[in-house]
Amino acid sequence: MNYKTNIGLEIHVQLKTKSKMFCGCDNNAEGKEPNTVVCPICAGYPGVLPVANKQAIEWTIKTALALNCKIAKYSKFDRKHYFYPDLPKNYQISQYDLPFSNHGFLEIESGENPPAGGKKIHIRRVHLEEDAGKLLHPEGRDDSLVDLNRAGTPLMEVVTEPNITSPGEAKQFLQDLRIILRYLEVSDADMEKGHLRCDANISIRKENEKELGIPVEIKNMNSFKMVEKALVYEEKRQKELLEDKEKVERETRGWIDTKGITVSQRGKEEAPDYRYFPEPDLPPFKFSDKYIADLKNNLPELPAEREKRFIKELKINHKDAKNLVSDRLLADFYEEVIAQKADPQKAANWVLVEMLGRLNKKGLDITQNRILPTELAALIKKIESKEISGTIAKEIFEEMFESGKAVPDIIKEKGLKLLTDETSLNKIVQKIIQENFRVVCDYKKGKVAALQFLIGLVMRETKGQANPNTIKKLLEEKLR
Ligand code: ADP
Ligand code: MG
Ligand code: ZN
Repeated sequence: MNYKTNIGLEIHVQLKTKSKMFCGCDNNAEGKEPNTVVCPICAGYPGVLPVANKQAIEWTIKTALALNCKIAKYSKFDRKHYFYPDLPKNYQISQYDLPFSNHGFLEIESGENPPAGGKKIHIRRVHLEEDAGKLLHPEGRDDSLVDLNRAGTPLMEVVTEPNITSPGEAKQFLQDLRIILRYLEVSDADMEKGHLRCDANISIRKENEKELGIPVEIKNMNSFKMVEKALVYEEKRQKELLEDKEKVERETRGWIDTKGITVSQRGKEEAPDYRYFPEPDLPPFKFSDKYIADLKNNLPELPAEREKRFIKELKINHKDAKNLVSDRLLADFYEEVIAQKADPQKAANWVLVEMLGRLNKKGLDITQNRILPTELAALIKKIESKEISGTIAKEIFEEMFESGKAVPDIIKEKGLKLLTDETSLNKIVQKIIQENFRVVCDYKKGKVAALQFLIGLVMRETKGQANPNTIKKLLEEKLR
């Protein structure tokens, strides 16, 4: 029997605003003592009044626009009630029936040979809420502690429709979403650090069945890999249940990474009733067309558009374009190299293979890169104009990478000879021809490989500093 998989994601994104969602507390509590970034509002004292963070709302709308959503002309916050041990108000300010946006999509390209144009993953809504604090369970104690530093920080939620059809697609969606969030500069979107948290809903159905299967919600994944692994596991578990003619229970399951399994956390019966009602302390929002149009017009060029532009205008290959735009700063660096009129495809190779490769190897990111784009452009142009050979270029690049020095300085310091001077090269060519009489005879008899061999010998003699094309030219002249 063949089965089909449907996955819908609920993604929480920590916004990196200066202050919290409804009070003036610092939104960056990293490294601070527990419960030191708290005020009466986020600590849930009675009688206090929340004031909404304008920046957080604007960033939510910006993100929604980048995800092709419709922005609501009218929306509001609601109270979601629950016993939250780490949110002292015992309700969370969230959005229920009138979120800031809905009906969007994100096009993704996943798999080895993705279809041209990608696949549209439908976005149900993007809304805004406040985060809870953190419960701590120190070892050796039988009680729990609470840290409210995170309570009341802005949390944006992106909910997809269940038209994701494989664990790989789910991972791709998350990765693409993260790139967009970073382009928009609204979140660091680091899953390992909890800036991006994902609940994944997955169901299986028989191929010929129209209606979706019963979904299971999986929590506790804190890397893209874990999301994919948990979904693969769950897909298999559900298939096996259906094959044994058993039913999939609608429930919430937790991913246990050390064991590579999901376990039941709570069933449908225990699903809480949140008793939503409109937040009476915050007036509803009305956004004018102009406000929304202005935000839309000020969106940065997004990765997908940038990728298309790189392919179309710079004529670089698809894979390189994709890799370059995956990090806004990397793509910015690349564009600065191109601005100096370096060949686009060659520049892409140097940036991705040599520069990024070395950075990755050292566990550094682009912000720690020391190479100046103007210098990389200068290097590429020197290779083009045949002033330096590929071997010498690598040596210069190595030094540039370590020290950030300029190309002419490195050439001077290292005493690198630019063998554009043909008379000295001619002498070497002469010498090689005299010393290799038999090879020369082979060449005369029509053995083409002999020439290559002679080029190699000259290269060795010049320690790789001469341009192979020049050597070939001189050798051919002399042999004639
Ligand atoms: P709510 O939590 O408001 O009841 P849903 O349960 O309908 O909303 O949706 C929550 C998430 O679960 C969404 O991301 C949605 O795409 C996903 N989802 C809903 N039904 C299914 C299903 N049958 N299979 C897979 N995912 C589903
Ligand atoms: Mg849910
Ligand atoms: Zn506060």
